[in-house]
Amino acid sequence: MDLSYGAEYESYRDEVRQFLRENWTAEDAAAAPPPDSAAALLGAVVRTDERATQFRLKAIARGYLYRHVPKRYGGSEQPPDALKAQIVAEEFRKVRAPHEVVGQGPSMLVPTLVEHGTEEQKQFFIRDTLLGKIMWCQGYSEPNAGSDLASLRTRGVLEGDHWVINGQKIWTSNARTSQWMFCLVRTEPEASKHEGISYILIDMKTPGIEARPLRQMTGDADFDEVFFDNVRVPLSNLVGKRGQGWHVSRSTLKHERALIGGSMIHRRTFDGLLMLAQAVPLRGQPASKNPVIRNRLVEIESKLLALEYHQYRMLTMGIRDEEPGLAGLVLKLYGTTLNYEIGRLAMDILADRGLLAPGEGSAPAMGMFLTAYMWSLGMLIAGGAANIQRNVIGERGLGLPRDAATKR
Ligand SMILES: Cc1cc2nc3c(=O)[nH]c(=O)nc-3n(C[C@H](O)[C@H](O)[C@H](O)COP(=O)(O)OP(=O)(O)OC[C@H]3O[C@@H](n4cnc5c(N)ncnc54)[C@H](O)[C@@H]3O)c2cc1C
Repeated sequence: MDLSYGAEYESYRDEVRQFLRENWTAEDAAAAPPPDSAAALLGAVVRTDERATQFRLKAIARGYLYRHVPKRYGGSEQPPDALKAQIVAEEFRKVRAPHEVVGQGPSMLVPTLVEHGTEEQKQFFIRDTLLGKIMWCQGYSEPNAGSDLASLRTRGVLEGDHWVINGQKIWTSNARTSQWMFCLVRTEPEASKHEGISYILIDMKTPGIEARPLRQMTGDADFDEVFFDNVRVPLSNLVGKRGQGWHVSRSTLKHERALIGGSMIHRRTFDGLLMLAQAVPLRGQPASKNPVIRNRLVEIESKLLALEYHQYRMLTMGIRDEEPGLAGLVLKLYGTTLNYEIGRLAMDILADRGLLAPGEGSAPAMGMFLTAYMWSLGMLIAGGAANIQRNVIGERGLGLPRDAATKR
């Protein structure tokens, strides 16, 4: 296996480093606002302050960010080159420079709009979404439609040039803080389950929308239930064709899985776990010297390396312009399972002290590991529950017989 990038790419790396030296200082990196939520504490929130935005605009102009998005919509429109994109991500990460904004808007909606949106939608939404100026939430799940998403029942009826929407969504991350929602709505009740759904963009300020917070075990309320009572949405907010929302939403989900399963965040949490094991005493010596803990650390690091190599394999597929297919599902399943194992070991090392919540003065590592552990359970479910992923990988990848209990 040859993991070197080659001379041409190493000179590209030098160019990126030079750009960073000229445009992003250590003081800029240190000026990051303090983490104010569980997600920020875990490093999953990116900067969108004015300094970060100015830097991002320069990086886009140089062709470093949003390579896949056309220039006229605010991207840098570069020829596909997965290695260049990888080098930019690596170098930006080293100096904590603002990379692409992650989140449901830039990572999930934008690729969908580029593929299926109207010219007007692209012009109106993409640029501001890429810079984190429009925040989006995803209105897919309903009380009786999660894994079996195509059972969703929120209704949209066309009256003149407006959809009138009634129904309920659930587990909608950040609904109260988002300006817009991309939503799946049943518009053709007589059509078959997967055919009668439309993909509609909804302004969260529209009268008739109520978002009620759901409290999680972390103590935060990052989710909402969203109720729609005769919500009127312009017909022009439809993405793709009427009744084709299932097809449109598939491209969104593909991006969500890559967002959730990627190894970068797990490497960061694992590095934190190592520091914790070296700092926390267990029977008179650092936990990292305890043979049982050492075994588990080595086991986790081996899995993390396997995940990183799996991502290299996906990178190679990207270079060859191949679809990731099941490799994307494996990334999500394996990454989220590993994240759970990291959180679990941290809790075992911390024992009773692990129960101190973020904000309590004596909480080790600011209570980050308690939050990480609780989040890891949610990540096993978000974007498609682990059991479902196992079913799909088993049936389509390994050729196992179909699950007799499921009608899909
Ligand atoms: C952190 C987090 C963030 C989320 N954010 C959003 C969001 O922003 N927008 C949104 O729309 N949704 C969001 N969700 C919801 C998420 O998509 C659903 O929770 C998920 O699809 C599972 O659906 P469900 O909760 O209804 O569980 P169910 O589908 O009821 O599943 C319950 C359990 O049964 C198992 N199960 C179900 N069917 C099968 C089967 N056929 N074979 C084997 N096992 C099965 C599942 O694996 C699971 O363990 C989020 C969830 C989490 C945890």
